[in-house]
Amino acid sequence: MIIVIDGPSGSGKSTLAKMLSKQLNIPYFDTGAMYRSFCWFLINREVSLDDQEKIKQLLNEMKFEIQTIGNEQHYIVNGTDISMKIRNEEVTRNVSKVSAYLFVREYLVSIQRKLGESRSGIFEGRDMGTVVFPNADIKFFLFADPNIRAVRRFEQMKANFPLKKFEKDRVLKELLKRDEYDSTREHSPLKQAGDAISIDVSCLDVNQVFEKLKAHIDEKKL
Ligand code: C5P
Repeated sequence: MIIVIDGPSGSGKSTLAKMLSKQLNIPYFDTGAMYRSFCWFLINREVSLDDQEKIKQLLNEMKFEIQTIGNEQHYIVNGTDISMKIRNEEVTRNVSKVSAYLFVREYLVSIQRKLGESRSGIFEGRDMGTVVFPNADIKFFLFADPNIRAVRRFEQMKANFPLKKFEKDRVLKELLKRDEYDSTREHSPLKQAGDAISIDVSCLDVNQVFEKLKAHIDEKKL
């Protein structure tokens, strides 16, 4: 069984994928974390993010692994656990540029499809329902008012990096910029699949969204 959840940043995809994973006892995959991991790797190697030839070469030098510890996924690049590092501001600011390159997408999409080949999974991202798993058993598309998403992102960032200071307005500005970049790029833009169930989560708390997703899954009798 393949369940996909797409939507813009801050719409709660990761939290819900984790909750469903626990409830249904099947793994979840945060595909944004894969793009973030590659972006972190490039920044760490001090590569210009405009240098496509160099980036292409480096794709093969990144050894990417996912380890599940408890109900959390850990992202390991060339032996180093970078799960927290990929949430930092520099990666967040630059990841959309890296994810827009077709060769980067092709590489990561092939990993994502392999992960879904022989097992059930919950995959969350931007193009899961449109490109990566067009035949998924059930597709969700979550969206919400950008101001609400920015507040959620702001709270998440404070929780992830308690010693750093963040400004809500700046978080909103960067979130809108990333939405715009992700929705207008040439390859696999953020878009709702025609057969996805769309849910406006602006006025719902995470448990209410979870109940809605669960009800749709139960109804399908997967
Ligand atoms: O979901 P998250 O905010 O961590 O995703 C980080 C970035 O990765 C997105 O802004 C987008 O550029 C890229 N992404 C993508 N396709 C996906 C998942 C994420 O292009 N399936």
